Amino acid sequence: MAEQQVFSIASIPADGVGKEVVAAGRTVLDAMAEQSGGAFSFEWTEFPWGSEYYAEHGVMMDPHALETLEAFDAIYFGAVGWENVPDHVSLWGLRLNITQNFDQWANVRPVRFLPGVVSPLRKAENAELDWVVVRENSEGEYAGLGGRNLSGRGPGNEVAVQSSLFTERGCERIIRFAFDLARTRTVQKVSSVTKSNAQQYGMVLWDEVFARVVRDYPDVQTESVLVDAMSAKFVLHPEELSVVVASNLNADILSDLGSALAGSLGLAASANLNPERRFPSMFEPVHGTAPDIAGQGIANPVGAIASAALMLDHFGLHEEARRLEAAIEATTAAGHLTRDIGGTADTDEVTEAIVEALATSP
Ligand code: ATP
Ligand code: MG
Repeated sequence: MAEQQVFSIASIPADGVGKEVVAAGRTVLDAMAEQSGGAFSFEWTEFPWGSEYYAEHGVMMDPHALETLEAFDAIYFGAVGWENVPDHVSLWGLRLNITQNFDQWANVRPVRFLPGVVSPLRKAENAELDWVVVRENSEGEYAGLGGRNLSGRGPGNEVAVQSSLFTERGCERIIRFAFDLARTRTVQKVSSVTKSNAQQYGMVLWDEVFARVVRDYPDVQTESVLVDAMSAKFVLHPEELSVVVASNLNADILSDLGSALAGSLGLAASANLNPERRFPSMFEPVHGTAPDIAGQGIANPVGAIASAALMLDHFGLHEEARRLEAAIEATTAAGHLTRDIGGTADTDEVTEAIVEALATSP
């Protein structure tokens, strides 16, 4: 028998529905490992970090967490944030702490329209729409630069500065990443998104780097679009999109818009990649902790499970990744839908249906 491939995964379910959907993804991956007849398996280690951990320890994760995590092949993440911790503290203390320190500079967020799921877009009916938002994940508007109380004057006169950071190297690597990704797709096109008419420093630098990189990819179609126009394009002409590359904030907003157009935030997958593979990459659903439905067992697990498919790709298990995506499609097509997309199924039912679809697929 060929040697078994073992992949070590650190799971961090964290808060709210994060716990429910990470458990679902784990069930699916373990079922796939079992079905592989020993070809591959996953070794899971779960970490209790998040807002409950904060309530007990005053920090979002263990001080040695990064050293611990470094040894894993990948990180499988849920969602972070709860009412006991200010949002910026929980986000920076856990999720951004990992993405920044592990230099996960490329955030890949596919937008996929699934059969059986009604989109608010009339255009999407029977159309096979899918595109990918590539988000610069290390600098831009989320560089954490700025300060408060800069006026030095009294209450009522506070001044805060929130700066963006754009480096030539940061722009170039994410733009090249987008082009390399475009070359793997049926439609080889890259749309670059900025707001360089209003933001004349960083975003103009981005545009200039884009114009330079374009020359190395003469086979790929390109366009440069302002973010406001791109928001309209997502709604009016989604069939023209393939790879959309944008800065941290713009791509964050566009990917939420994309997943809403596909039917629900609960469907969207995301990979935070360190493309050099010097550090582990992190896979997570795009959605947050969904406090309004947390703890009820009704969260849509598709976003988290589709993120697990991206993790399989990262492990080089490409056929298995496609098989999992096909199983998700078979499941929604058969009407196993959670409430957010108009169905009545709960998290476990959808998860089981995906496991069954995998068992009966070649
Ligand atoms: P964050 O600040 O962490 O992004 P948020 O409040 O902005 O959180 P979400 O927690 O993602 O955003 O929730 C937004 C809406 O989408 C909520 O109504 C929530 O119930 C819904 N939602 C999010 N994830 C899911 C899911 N997996 N299944 C069903 N509904 C979801
Ligand atoms: Mg949000």
